[in-house]
Amino acid sequence: MSKFKINKSKCAGCGACVKVCPYGAIKIGKDGKAVIDEKKCQNCGKCKEACPFNAIIKK
Ligand code: SF4
Ligand code: SF4
Repeated sequence: MSKFKINKSKCAGCGACVKVCPYGAIKIGKDGKAVIDEKKCQNCGKCKEACPFNAIIKK
């Protein structure tokens, strides 16, 4: 279970989080916003650090 979630109103769909996730747990969804795969996420926090828009928040 991921401890992180995407604030979709802040997400610009830039893909920075997708690139840094070591577990391939983030993709850009059909709405152009990032989505975290709850099952793959290992809660390393790298996506949160990488997001230029502070769109990833701890639950
Ligand atoms: S916390 Fe780590 S494993 Fe989970 S989505 Fe972010 S970068 Fe990927
Ligand atoms: S790095 Fe931030 S703004 Fe860019 S796609 Fe990921 S959550 Fe969205």
